[in-house]
Amino acid sequence: MVNSVVTLQRRDDIGLIVIDNPPVNALGARLRAELHEALATVRDDASLRGVVIACAGRTFVAGADIGELGTPKQTQKPQLPELCSLIEALGKPAAAAIHGTALGGGLELALSCHYRVADRQAKLGLPEVKLGLIPGAGGTVRLPRLTGPEYALKMVVSGTPVSAGEALAVGLVDAVVEGDIASAAIEFLRDRLKDNVAPVREREEKLAPQRSDLTSFDALAAKLTAKTKGLRAPRAAADAIRNAIVLPFDEALAGERAMFLELSAAPESKALRHLFFAEREAGKIPGLEVGTKPRDIARVGVIGAGTMGGGIAMALANADIDVTLLDATDAALERGMAMIERNYAASVSRGSLLDQQKAARLAKLTRSTDYASLAGCDLVIEAVFEDMAVKKEVVAKVDAVAKPGAIFATNTSYLDVDEIAQSSDRPQDVVGLHFFSPANVMKLLEVVRGRDTDPQVLATAISLGRRMGKVPVVVGVCRGFVGNRMLVARGAENENLLLEGATPSQVDAVFRAFGWPMGPFEMGDLAGLDISWRNRKAQGKTAILADTLCERGQFGQKTGGGWYRYEPGSRSALENPAAMALITQTAASLNVARRAISDQEIIERTLYPMINEGATILQEGIAARASDIDLVWVNGYGFPVALGGPMYWAREVESLDKIHDRLAYWFERTGRPIFEPSSALLG
Ligand code: NAD
Repeated sequence: MVNSVVTLQRRDDIGLIVIDNPPVNALGARLRAELHEALATVRDDASLRGVVIACAGRTFVAGADIGELGTPKQTQKPQLPELCSLIEALGKPAAAAIHGTALGGGLELALSCHYRVADRQAKLGLPEVKLGLIPGAGGTVRLPRLTGPEYALKMVVSGTPVSAGEALAVGLVDAVVEGDIASAAIEFLRDRLKDNVAPVREREEKLAPQRSDLTSFDALAAKLTAKTKGLRAPRAAADAIRNAIVLPFDEALAGERAMFLELSAAPESKALRHLFFAEREAGKIPGLEVGTKPRDIARVGVIGAGTMGGGIAMALANADIDVTLLDATDAALERGMAMIERNYAASVSRGSLLDQQKAARLAKLTRSTDYASLAGCDLVIEAVFEDMAVKKEVVAKVDAVAKPGAIFATNTSYLDVDEIAQSSDRPQDVVGLHFFSPANVMKLLEVVRGRDTDPQVLATAISLGRRMGKVPVVVGVCRGFVGNRMLVARGAENENLLLEGATPSQVDAVFRAFGWPMGPFEMGDLAGLDISWRNRKAQGKTAILADTLCERGQFGQKTGGGWYRYEPGSRSALENPAAMALITQTAASLNVARRAISDQEIIERTLYPMINEGATILQEGIAARASDIDLVWVNGYGFPVALGGPMYWAREVESLDKIHDRLAYWFERTGRPIFEPSSALLG
């Protein structure tokens, strides 16, 4: 066939099916049809004693064609489960020759083969939960038969791929090889045929632990799914694997498929798929030519060894990048290094890091108090105090020693990146790299593009962010960029809500019910109310309730009281009569009549203004597209992933018209401008 994506070749008595569907051999409708045809030929050809399924290009089948989900193509026959059954019942052994990544449907295809041979560099995984799905072609039923149910549970609920070496150790693959993978798999298959070893069909394997005792399985399932932010898919995956233990093979398979189909049509998966595509889109930067080559970054200087500088240094070291960590004094450096060591030690004691890894990462860090030591750095990130004068002083010191082409990045939260750039001799080499706390954990990286930022500098910042495992989102210069600017809009009515009749615990409960990890008042108590108090004072701003709490030394958890009250040594938030009295007395003194505030009103006065700000940000071109804003909020601020990000939620769940109308009502007195719901900007 001309242009076919699947070919069948003969290697004597072994058939070699080669899939060639760039870029990642995704299992689209056409590929499935051609593969079915090739497999049927193998089945019917008595001169072929076995078959190897291999892929051309950089990887084995890396998954389903996600763009097909929810379209008629998804249900076009043959579907993947049919292909898997066909392979399993071929009447002759099939081996998957795996290189690159065997993910999702790709791994399910391999699981239905009788053998799996993997390249040493290969990775294997069932990441469906990351798209709000579970495997739908036998993954949850065949995998536990190979690895045991508890290992399968961990692999499917986390969605994290495993290395070929680990796959071999747990029985997921039969051999790990180097060199030409297809030839190696053919050789492997020939050996089996020579030895007359009967091919294993996973469906015939019984599962232990046996049907009676599922206590430890259930306990592990509860533990793993507790961490998955209320998403349905991880729990459904655990149920599917449980079915594989207690039900006959075909019943478990049918149950898995039904759940897969239900989830793929559900809002959660649509939202997660939106975020998946959003991440791809975010890489397309207006004005940045595709293929712009980033500058080489081998050593990064980090100035300021405080909360952010320490976290950024760790994130760099974790990505195997050399770091020079600089602070003004030895004492500050020591404090910073001690914090870094404590963090790594905690990872070691949790079991997520080996001792040697900790040592290797610490060895990446060089400490210094001398700016001259930054001369060898390809990029320098400042994370010093949030003060323009201090930032400018740091720029001048770096300018004096930096090598030509070295990039200067600022981690400022709110300050004007253009003003910082203008104070440099080379504004084209200045960019914002806004990390989120803790910087070694949080995925979001706002890459702030200044007026003069060179496209190559931008490309370098994005590529460095990706190397660090971050989700880089390019934003423009304005106060607070995308995230913090919308956060300010979200919080603008918080105190008014309290004065008019809400309570901190009511507002926080509404936020948690929405899916946020916590509400704004709990958050304030946790972070320390004194921090925003200091910021307000610096800007000449006030917040009547929070200011009074701070004047009374009520900074939140660290002082035993803030919006809530805390027993010594406890973090549980208890109703605080002193804060409540402050609220009611202040309301009375301002002549504000307290009334019952509905939960809906709380949403309308916090989240709707935040959407309005997002729309304004789009209009101003500070963000290139609505989905970039969604990435910022999901990866940096805990917006519930199941709702796809604020702009997706506003458009797909809540309705723009409704938000517009309610804002018109709430903003009436203030005259604040409201976005136009017909605006294509939100799409
Ligand atoms: P921090 O006070 O914890 O740390 C600042 C460090 O900078 C201190 O160790 C200080 O000794 C050092 N420093 C100050 N001036 C210096 C100089 N001239 N040369 C060398 N070192 C100097 O502050 P932080 O919370 O890490 O914040 C740092 C920056 O990151 C600020 O711009 C802040 O707005 C931004 N930021 C903070 C957060 C956050 O959640 N804390 C999040 C994102 C961005």
